[in-house]
Amino acid sequence: MEKVRIGISGYGNLGRGVELAIRQNDDMELAGIFTRRDPSTVKPLTAGAKVYSIADAEKMANDIDVMIICGGSATDLPKQTPEMAKLFNVIDSFDTHKRIPEHFANVDKAAKESGHLAFISLGWDPGLFSLNRLYAESILPNGKSYTFWGKGVSQGHSDAIRRVEGVKRGIQYTVPIESAMEAVRSGSQPELTTRQKHLRECWVVPEEGADLAKIENDIKTMKNYFDEYDTTVNFITEEEFDAKHNKMPHGGFVMRSGLTGDGEKTHQMIEYSLKLESNPEFTASVLICFARALARMKAEGATGCKTAFDVPPAYLSKLSGEELRASML
Ligand code: NDP
Repeated sequence: MEKVRIGISGYGNLGRGVELAIRQNDDMELAGIFTRRDPSTVKPLTAGAKVYSIADAEKMANDIDVMIICGGSATDLPKQTPEMAKLFNVIDSFDTHKRIPEHFANVDKAAKESGHLAFISLGWDPGLFSLNRLYAESILPNGKSYTFWGKGVSQGHSDAIRRVEGVKRGIQYTVPIESAMEAVRSGSQPELTTRQKHLRECWVVPEEGADLAKIENDIKTMKNYFDEYDTTVNFITEEEFDAKHNKMPHGGFVMRSGLTGDGEKTHQMIEYSLKLESNPEFTASVLICFARALARMKAEGATGCKTAFDVPPAYLSKLSGEELRASML
């Protein structure tokens, strides 16, 4: 079987993760890395890997089977994915949940007009968590669903604390509240407020002479970020920051508590969880197995935009249908 030729568009944490995930899949190969920066300033992890300007991507339309777009969700992907879908089959990890319908429509139009296939919003949330929510709610129609995130680094909240006056370095962890998860597991189907589900834990290196009480107050009262949560602010030295806060862990839980049976008194609990030491490396691994599925669906003639919901699970695996039935059913 010919290898799936992968392009990486955007070389940040996720882009590097995709490059590393390709190494673990011998049916994939790296065709090139594309960046908006000067390509000579971007150093790939793999010796010999080619880095191109994104402006030259068009010239490689015949050399890439799937372009994995690794830009940021806030401003890059809403533009980059529809643009790239005119030239390539594409995959992205767009994670602004509220804007997925709008993003889907834009990408679908571009992909249908050019005859390409696009997968959007893949990763773990959205992505694997979305699939688990769908399975759980379809199986237990009488029930209640919950998603808890963490413990993990929230990039958006970390950026927000770094903008507070007097903060030199900062990182924020989202922490699920154990007692809330236990209440869900008990089957009581609690109504949980935002504050009851997650804590926000901040680690800050202050500027010299900064007013620590003011920093703490500015963080805890920040609208839309911290004001609806119980937040702790811890001040540490730069050395401690470098030693203890240099990874990007994340994870979380999708839960559904449902009732079945005559009189609907039988409690059924579904729980799916992830504990990730590296969010971008894991997300990249999800994108790569969906690239395999994309290549298969494209070969069957599919075009337009799809999400995790539209992909047959067997297409993610390197194994044949026969091998899967023998080893995993
Ligand atoms: P980064 O900030 O590391 O990278 C985003 C873009 O910024 C890159 O594509 C790159 O574009 C540019 N960039 C990276 N490093 C530099 C630099 N040193 N100087 C200038 N520009 C740089 O973001 P991540 O890779 O961590 O995340 C990308 C997106 O993935 C997130 O926005 C998030 O939405 C999504 N995501 C989705 C998940 C899911 O489960 N669905 C999970 C995790 C992330 P270029 O090379 O063109 O300059």
